[in-house]
Order: sequence, then structure tokens, then C-alpha cells
Amino acid sequence: MIPAAFEYYAPKSVKEAVGLLQQHGDDAKVLAGGHSLLPIMKFRLAQPKVVVDIGRIPGLDGIAAGKDGITIGALATHDAVEHSDVLKDRCPLLAEVAGVIGDMQVRNRGTIGGALAHADPAADYPGAILALEASIVATGPKGSRTIAAKDFFVEMLTTALSPTELITEVRVPALAKGTGTAYVKHPHPASGYAVVGVAVVLSVSGGKCQRAAIGINGVAGKAYRATAVEQALVGQALDEKTVAAAAAQAAKGVDAQGDVYASGEFRAHLAQVYTKRAVLLAASRAK
Ligand SMILES: Cc1cc2nc3c(=O)[nH]c(=O)nc-3n(C[C@H](O)[C@H](O)[C@H](O)COP(=O)(O)OP(=O)(O)OC[C@H]3O[C@@H](n4cnc5c(N)ncnc54)[C@H](O)[C@@H]3O)c2cc1C
Repeated sequence: MIPAAFEYYAPKSVKEAVGLLQQHGDDAKVLAGGHSLLPIMKFRLAQPKVVVDIGRIPGLDGIAAGKDGITIGALATHDAVEHSDVLKDRCPLLAEVAGVIGDMQVRNRGTIGGALAHADPAADYPGAILALEASIVATGPKGSRTIAAKDFFVEMLTTALSPTELITEVRVPALAKGTGTAYVKHPHPASGYAVVGVAVVLSVSGGKCQRAAIGINGVAGKAYRATAVEQALVGQALDEKTVAAAAAQAAKGVDAQGDVYASGEFRAHLAQVYTKRAVLLAASRAK
């Protein structure tokens, strides 16, 4: 289908974009890579009167390492995240996640800011963003604020952003020595979206797990931390039996969602299987 008619703006600065959002309120939608917004506009599930295309704002797509961690501009494409030397070296988890998003066209156009703002429960970044304890910088009429990942995802397709705010960057803390990370997913065979995706950040010392952070997307209405698994791993040697016993709690207390492709029960089962795989893989990479 063809989208409903809309006015199109291409601001050249964040200030101009925020001004347009303020002026048009709920009638306006931000456009970044367009790989989530345009399909829903074509289905007329969204009919914004005004589209604010932030894709031409310079300086919003950089990826840079600082002393506290890494800053990723909201317009960094999935492809840029996948191939960033800074991320491959300092935060390989995000590069690994980006590399399994959709297909090449999606990775070339889709942006990290757009993916986080859209908050699709089956998107790949949210679990990793939670496990990394990253933060999201939102810029609005009153300036910028930093939102911790744990407070950012509110519910399905809903975030802590206000309608007049833009995500401008994502901040990822530097990983401690001895940390291993991994992302594994069960992709939907048609779209590639995560039916279940598990991101793990863990540190190992003296053969035992010192800290574990596990973010899971695809299972529930929003990505979540598998805290019961994390607690069961800390202080343990990460052998297969121990990890399997801990991973059995991957969907504990979670309302697993079902659809035509996978029932809630199947998703909860996949969460256990993929959590075990991801933890073992991360443990093998911890150095
Ligand atoms: C065929 C197909 C397969 C896909 N497979 C996967 C997959 O396997 N895994 C996965 O994770 N994703 C997948 N996606 C989604 C893809 O990653 C999108 O690119 C992403 O979800 C949205 O990013 P975007 O830059 O395209 O955002 P857009 O579509 O431009 O925007 C999405 C939403 O975010 C808002 N928005 C965008 N940028 C900002 C910003 N900086 N600040 C505030 N709001 C903003 C928009 O207003 C809109 O509501 C797939 C998409 C398609 C079409």
C-alpha cells in the first residue's frame, strides 16, 4: 500500500529537529533508516501528518571510544556497528548483535537509534543494551538527559522517550578485563527477527563466574534481564551441567508471548536452550 499523505522535513541540526517535533506534537514522527517506520506507514498502521527525517543531520553517526566507554551516534547503521573496529575491540557484543540483524539491506539502512526507539520486542539490540548496562542519551527542548537501559524499555513498542525527544547517542561502558560476551538467537525464518535472542556479559576469575548479566529479547513484550539465571551462575564454575541448571530459569516469572510462529511455551523453552548456549559461549571467550 501507499502511505497516507504527509509533510516532509529534513532538518540539518538536532535543534531544528526538536523544534519541529515541538511544533507538530503527536502529528510528527521521526524518520531514521525507515526500516520499521515505512512498513507501518505503508500498512497505514501509522499515519503521521509530518515526517521529520533526521538522516541528514551531520555528526549523529559516529562511533568513538572515550575513557569511560564507547559512544555510538543514533544514526550509526547496523552495518557500521557490525564493522566498527572500536566495537569489535572494546564491545564485541554489539558488533555480534548487529551482524545478525535482518539482511544486508536492513543492516545498511537501519540505525541503532531507530531500533531502540521502536522497541520491538523481537529486535536484537535491547537484550544486549540491558546486559551491557548501557545508557541512552535523549535530546529534547530542555536539553539532553541520560536514560539507563533498565528504565528505557517500558513495554511493547513503548520507551521512556517523550514525543519531543530524539535519541542522539547510546553509551556503552568499558568492559572489565576477564569479561566474555555472546549473543545467540533463534531467527524468524522469514524476517530474521529474534524469536528468542540471548545476550550475555560475564566475567570469570579463578575458573569461577564473578559477575553475569543476561538480557533476553523476543520472549516477552519487552526485553528483560534474566536475574535468576545471573544469580545462579555467580560463584560457580561454568561447566555444562551448572550452566544448564541455571539456564532452566531463563523465563522464570516472565509472561512469554505466543504468535502464529511460536507459542509462549515454545519461546520459554527456547529461552532456556539459547541461554545455555550463550553463557557457555561467553565463558569460552572470557579473558
Ligand atoms: C525485512 C526486515 C527485517 C528485519 N529484521 C530485523 C532483525 O532481524 N532484527 C532487528 O533487530 N530488527 C530487524 N528489522 C528492523 C530494523 O532493524 C530497523 O532498521 C529498526 O528497527 C529501526 O531502525 P530505523 O533506523 O530503520 O528506524 P525508523 O524505521 O526510521 O524508525 C523506527 C521508529 O523509531 C523512531 N526513531 C527513529 N530514530 C529515532 C531517534 N534517533 N530518536 C527517536 N525516535 C527515533 C521513529 O519515529 C519510528 O517510530 C527488520 C526490518 C525489516 C524491514
